[in-house]
Amino acid sequence: MEGKTILLPGDHVGPGEVYAEGASTYTEKDEVYASTMGVLDEESRGLKTRFRKIQIERGSIVYGVVLSVFENFAILGILPEKSEEGKFAGIPDGKILVKNASKEYTRSMRDAVKVGDLVRAKVIDVDGDTAMLTTSYPEYGVIKAFCARDKSPLDRQGKDLVCPLCKGRERRKLANDYRDFGKINL
Ligand SMILES: [Zn+2]
Repeated sequence: MEGKTILLPGDHVGPGEVYAEGASTYTEKDEVYASTMGVLDEESRGLKTRFRKIQIERGSIVYGVVLSVFENFAILGILPEKSEEGKFAGIPDGKILVKNASKEYTRSMRDAVKVGDLVRAKVIDVDGDTAMLTTSYPEYGVIKAFCARDKSPLDRQGKDLVCPLCKGRERRKLANDYRDFGKINL
């Protein structure tokens, strides 16, 4: 796996004339983007995703896409992530209760995350098929977010997120390395 690049949802894969749109990608203005977390496969010119299920346990660190947000909780689809043993973890659902969103008081879960956000979280318990998650530490929270109006990836500006396209401002419970990590190398 040395030297391979993992792309996160929304990351640019390449130009449409070189990279084919597949199940793990989408095309916008002739550019191909990742729609899931996956490994870039240069030979087949596409995004090859690798899903290998392992047990997610208390203390595991997971990445997920926010699927739905309510007043008191949010539901995430957990993405495959490399574990210490080199396998990818995958469990269908993650749930963050509003009390576990942040150390600071959070009135509504809608103030912490929005649908489509990419989140890094820690597993505090596993309840059947659902991992109970917390983002209540500086390193956990939203690591990539998209503008509600035009879906552009938002840039961090102090405590705010700013859209480079429409200049709209939004807020989230951010991880301290929001968008600093770039592409994750395996
Ligand atoms: Zn915008």
